[in-house]
Amino acid sequence: MPERSLRRFFVERIDPDATVCRVAGQEAKHIRKVLRMGVGQPLLLVDEVGRRVIGRIASVSPQEVQVLVETLLSPAAAPLVETVLCQAVLKSQRMDWLIQKTTELGVRRIVPFFSERTVVDLYGEKTESKIRRWREIARMATTQCDGDRPPVIEPPLTFAELLARYRDEAALKGILWEKTIGLANLKDILRPNAASPRRFIGMVGPEGGFSEREIEEAAACGFVPLGLGRRILRAETAGMMLVGIVQYEWGDLGEAADRQRQTAGTDATDG
Ligand code: SAM
Repeated sequence: MPERSLRRFFVERIDPDATVCRVAGQEAKHIRKVLRMGVGQPLLLVDEVGRRVIGRIASVSPQEVQVLVETLLSPAAAPLVETVLCQAVLKSQRMDWLIQKTTELGVRRIVPFFSERTVVDLYGEKTESKIRRWREIARMATTQCDGDRPPVIEPPLTFAELLARYRDEAALKGILWEKTIGLANLKDILRPNAASPRRFIGMVGPEGGFSEREIEEAAACGFVPLGLGRRILRAETAGMMLVGIVQYEWGDLGEAADRQRQTAGTDATDG
């Protein structure tokens, strides 16, 4: 059964030795209530590390959908570029919106962080439920846009933890700063490196922006301060544009969809 013809749904983890997989949450609700799929119907499951199985619905209940595994597929083709968005935590709807839009654009990893001027503070159970919510939004957006797999949404870091995490990372790194008058802009650093892109790590500030000290500290860790023109964009607009531009210049946004589907389809026959 060609993988391309199947509806795909996302689960946190697929046990490669399992004969039955469990779909829960909004994905299960989508199968049951929206698509009204029933026992015996085939579908494709994908997990956060790209494992993929073809299976058939074995049972449907209000809590979950059980899927009988038939075929373990090879992981989908690796993306042309791994775009990582480090986003200062924004107020609720803005962060939800940004996660949804950047997922549609093909972001592979979202790393929320707290900076000096972050106005949102998360702690304890609230953080856990936020991360669950963000991951659910990413899963649903991936289902809607027929993406290969949801981006990894990491637990929030402090600014210092974020810099320590990526300081020695061999990737093109940029920090969006609206005060970069006369400094590099995104086009300047993407175009010359188009031949050998693999990983772009972009950082976007909170509603109140970055302090000069944060910009200096990030630059000392290899994050090039980058401009997106003279207008001051909302943080969520800037984050979306960053991912969109990188995905267009280096990723598959600039590619003809049919060519991508053909390449994606060639691995569908893998057993
Ligand atoms: N300091 C800004 C002000 O004076 O209103 C507020 C920051 S802006 C709303 C939020 C974030 O979006 C910034 O931290 C930056 O990362 C990004 N951003 C917004 N406009 C930008 C631009 N023109 N160039 C680069 N980054 C921009």
